[in-house]
Amino acid sequence: MMFESLTGRLQEIFKDLARRGKLREADVDEALRQIRLALLEADVHYQVVKGLLVRVRGRVLGEGASRALSPSQQVLRALHAELVATLGEPERLRLSGPKPRPVMLVGLQGSGKTTTAAKLARWLRGRGERVWMIAADIQRPAAVEQLQLLGEELKVPVFYQAGLEPPELAEAGVAAARAAGASVVLLDTAGRSQLDEPLMQELQAIHERIAPSESLLVADAMTGQEAVNIARGFAATLHLTGLILTKMDGDARGGAAISMRAVTGVPIKFIGTGEGRDALDAFEPDRLASRILGMGDVLSLIEKAEAAIDLERAGKQVERLRKGEFTLEDFAEQLQQVRNMGPLGKVLELMPAGMGSALPVDHGTAERQLVRAQAILQSMTAHERRHPEVLNASRKRRIAAGSGTTVQEVNQLLRQYKQMRKLFKRMGKRGAKGMKGMPFGFG
Ligand code: GDP
Ligand code: MG
Repeated sequence: MMFESLTGRLQEIFKDLARRGKLREADVDEALRQIRLALLEADVHYQVVKGLLVRVRGRVLGEGASRALSPSQQVLRALHAELVATLGEPERLRLSGPKPRPVMLVGLQGSGKTTTAAKLARWLRGRGERVWMIAADIQRPAAVEQLQLLGEELKVPVFYQAGLEPPELAEAGVAAARAAGASVVLLDTAGRSQLDEPLMQELQAIHERIAPSESLLVADAMTGQEAVNIARGFAATLHLTGLILTKMDGDARGGAAISMRAVTGVPIKFIGTGEGRDALDAFEPDRLASRILGMGDVLSLIEKAEAAIDLERAGKQVERLRKGEFTLEDFAEQLQQVRNMGPLGKVLELMPAGMGSALPVDHGTAERQLVRAQAILQSMTAHERRHPEVLNASRKRRIAAGSGTTVQEVNQLLRQYKQMRKLFKRMGKRGAKGMKGMPFGFG
């Protein structure tokens, strides 16, 4: 798995730091020293490591002891922020200009160009593009065939014409794609086993002919520092608009990913995570940094929550919440959405270590509370849920009896509901940004 050993080492370091109670400069320095070793061992460029840790140290010591966070959480948060900054802004493909927009893939032999062309074709098609591919790697006859097979599998047309040199072939391919009404054309090019002059000249010639919207360097993350050096070499002679790091599914020296952006100045746009056609992810620095630190996949949790929510209904709900109209019916719906996300234990597992342990409940207890809250809400009439102000003592007794709970528990639920309503009102005044799609069920 990606970054397994780096993540394991970092977690040990944070565990160790967590055992020391107060924020002491010496402890922070010792932790940073160990983090430095772990990063270097994962093959992160030494200058990148150096700059990163200086900034982390400055952040942590500059903040001073936090009342809310433990020293280990403080270092973790600072390291996360600096990792995200080092990884760089997430960048998307920029497809503009007349159609078809050419996207050129370059890289050494075996880096994953051809495979990535197919993955990208699939990805782009999923976004409504009409994709063509051009087999411009005529170094090895098998390379053309490989792309043609992939094209057949994906039902994406592949252009090839024997007897043409790559620049002419590329130009002819773009013309054919245009005539066929394609919107994007992916160009698979030749690689060599190492960077050399003839290769760069060929790529430059192609680049001049077709003026690609994107020229993406495909680099094998498993080769660690080597991948960074190669990227630097390509960037020096060819105008690169993005990087695709392949084989990020391997554990070995994934640290290349961390240095890439800082060393080359070129943004990472995608990462390849396997041999399958769907093993291509848009590059998300935040997510990658969390993964490196073993913070759990908070984003995937949010995604799950989003998927569980009926969007249109959620839209209306947010609108009402903004106006401060949050009824017990909305509350019941929120609880249901949390339940839709799956067993609560799983949901909590997905949370970052710090957050998970901040919740003072074991999963079983949380699950039971949720079930109880739902039972209470179900024992109310629709009128009561919409107008909670009618809930007097006798109604509460009836509800408690009906749900197998006590009046205290009914009151507790009502308190939670009121707190939440207050919170939404405040948020609503500041605008509903950030509210959409979040489950609010946790008391
Ligand atoms: P090219 O010479 O640059 O065109 O490289 P290929 O696309 O032919 O890929 C070389 C090898 O790397 C093939 O065996 C691919 O299946 C494999 N490969 C490509 N991308 C990935 C990836 O993201 N993960 C893994 N595990 N293998 C990959
Ligand atoms: Mg190839």
